[in-house]
Amino acid sequence: MVELKTDSSIDAMHAAGRVVGQALTAVRKAAGVGVSLLELDEVAHEVLREAGAGSPFLGYRPASAPVPFPAVVCTSVNEAIVHGIPGRYRLRDGDLVSVDCGAELAGWVGDSAISFIVGRPRPADVRLVETAERALAAGIEAAVVGNRIGDIAHAIGTVCRTAGYGIPEGWGGHGVGRRMHEDPSVPNEGRPGRGLPLRHGMVLAIEPMLIGGGGDGYHAAPDGWTLRTDDGSRAAHVEHTVAITTAGPRILTER
Ligand code: MG
Ligand code: MG
Repeated sequence: MVELKTDSSIDAMHAAGRVVGQALTAVRKAAGVGVSLLELDEVAHEVLREAGAGSPFLGYRPASAPVPFPAVVCTSVNEAIVHGIPGRYRLRDGDLVSVDCGAELAGWVGDSAISFIVGRPRPADVRLVETAERALAAGIEAAVVGNRIGDIAHAIGTVCRTAGYGIPEGWGGHGVGRRMHEDPSVPNEGRPGRGLPLRHGMVLAIEPMLIGGGGDGYHAAPDGWTLRTDDGSRAAHVEHTVAITTAGPRILTER
């Protein structure tokens, strides 16, 4: 069931979303060659604590997961697409990192992700990250009253496929509200004009995931959480929580 949010609930979600934006900005600033993923998790955790926010990631355990998620951010490096667990790995020159963060404030959740390159970037990685950001922008642009879920999916998928990138099937965006994952699901590829009509008060996490090698294959790492590309190519993942309003899409997790 899709829950429509009131305007005051959307304002409350914006407050949660701002905390996520601040945490990701702090992580981006702290990241560099030699910095560990655990250190990045601690940076985000400190921003959440300062804001009085909880983490919807920490302790999260869907039925498919072998252990509860142990951190407040997902850190997915190079061939990791999403859901990487922050560990002792220290970032190296040229690493492509995707960081996903959530915050819960006054009972409302925000969810957002960034991809960036540490140190000297490979041109192919710059293009991949830029395309992910363009796909996200296209998805947000399509998140308007009168469109349908399929229009968002089609906008994202078109940008990714036109650039020659793969899309991991079965993963994508979702409704957000008092819980991190609500209906509807928001695929990263689909047919325009299909699916649920978009209405004022829907709040969606829109989150393109791109596989640089062009294939769609992926698998779970032995930790049971991290999704990795089958071809070993690098991946990017970016996300915003967006409210659909009669005045247009409203990004709630701005940075
Ligand atoms: Mg997320
Ligand atoms: Mg999400």
